[in-house]
Amino acid sequence: MRTVICGAGIAGLTLAWHLERAGWEVELVERAPAFRDGGYMIDFYGPGYQVAERMGLRPRLLRDRYRVGELSYVGRDGRRTSRLKLGSALDDVYSLLRGDLARAVADDVRAPVTYGTTVEGSEQHPGGVTVRLSDGTTREADLLVGADGARSRVRELAFGDVPQRYLGHQATAFVLAEAELSRRIGGSVQMLTEPGLMAGAYALRGDRLALLFLRREPDPALPADPVAALRRHFGGLGWILPEVLERAPGPGGLYHDLVTQVELERWHSGRIVLLGDACQAVSLFAGHGASMAMAAAWVLADELTAPGDPAAAFARYQARMAPVIAEVQAFGRRAVRWMAPPNRWRILTRDLFLRLAALPGGERLFVNALSPGGHALISARSDVLESVRQD
Ligand SMILES: Cc1cc2nc3c(=O)[nH]c(=O)nc-3n(C[C@H](O)[C@H](O)[C@H](O)COP(=O)(O)OP(=O)(O)OC[C@H]3O[C@@H](n4cnc5c(N)ncnc54)[C@H](O)[C@@H]3O)c2cc1C
Repeated sequence: MRTVICGAGIAGLTLAWHLERAGWEVELVERAPAFRDGGYMIDFYGPGYQVAERMGLRPRLLRDRYRVGELSYVGRDGRRTSRLKLGSALDDVYSLLRGDLARAVADDVRAPVTYGTTVEGSEQHPGGVTVRLSDGTTREADLLVGADGARSRVRELAFGDVPQRYLGHQATAFVLAEAELSRRIGGSVQMLTEPGLMAGAYALRGDRLALLFLRREPDPALPADPVAALRRHFGGLGWILPEVLERAPGPGGLYHDLVTQVELERWHSGRIVLLGDACQAVSLFAGHGASMAMAAAWVLADELTAPGDPAAAFARYQARMAPVIAEVQAFGRRAVRWMAPPNRWRILTRDLFLRLAALPGGERLFVNALSPGGHALISARSDVLESVRQD
């Protein structure tokens, strides 16, 4: 079978990894001009981690992970207002740069990736799909997979304009080479929250710092200059923010987008199927999108390599994934008010929760509160996929 995958992110790469090992001919098409490194920090656990383990990635993830010793909230003067020491309860949660996880998968993918290219159009015909690329070339394929993120082009081609569910926040993230600030943050995650605003900092290896900014904003229009908007809203909040914002990269060097969820009735149409954030974005509030993207890629590969035609495989794939995604999305919507509290009362309640979690045995309570399910997803139906693993 010949497959074109649009989008070489975590979902697209994981699907390519599995299908090529099952003997499929795979090609990836990626809009970015080169592999997307860095990005932002993710907590990676649950079903996606189970997939990574089957792929033999555990040693690599153990090498690349960051051990977070403490989660703390700070005030404008940089002093901690509440903190939670994170011990062994977080052993199964891998804190990683998104780019490091994607790179771990990409390093083991043999399929060609055509960078700087997107899917311009597609025509389905009996037995296949003609895919027109933005470089003027075409591909004849059995399947076209849209793994091109929450603003999916393939979704638009198959289903038209599907409105996303806006969760009322805008997010900005970037990585900064800043030795002095990185040392100040040390082995902890530090966050500052003001009503409707959250800024978080992780210290990374190589004297770097990963930063995440969340801003409550009812208007779903992105500012023309995201760095100017950051400076306007966060520049006066003290802590490390004035120094960080002075050194913030230009728009090309940062992630900036609305926080949304994607809800679709159908994830497939004829020979086209959607994967990852393109059809199931759960939002950063759910803290589970990368894990779900990897799990979904595995489930899709499992169904496609089981006996039967692609249409039936697509339907089974959606039937397995959609209920779990609905659960994780609901979890994400509940988490909004705690991650970027809208008022001082919620900030105080959150700090109180953190103090309770700091009591003996309390960190387990904290970890449980972070983890929606989905573990039962990774159980192979297809003999082919059961044999496609690197132990
Ligand atoms: C700030 C932030 C924090 C997060 N924290 C967590 C976390 O803690 N835990 C967790 O599990 N998840 C987290 N997530 C979510 C997670 O990053 C996503 O759910 C996951 O990356 C989805 O993978 P994907 O491959 O489906 O989509 P993406 O990662 O969006 O990849 C899509 C790929 O397609 C490419 N592309 C886009 N459009 C086109 C096009 N038209 N043509 C060709 N290529 C295209 C993109 O360049 C990209 O390479 C977070 C997300 C953000 C933004």
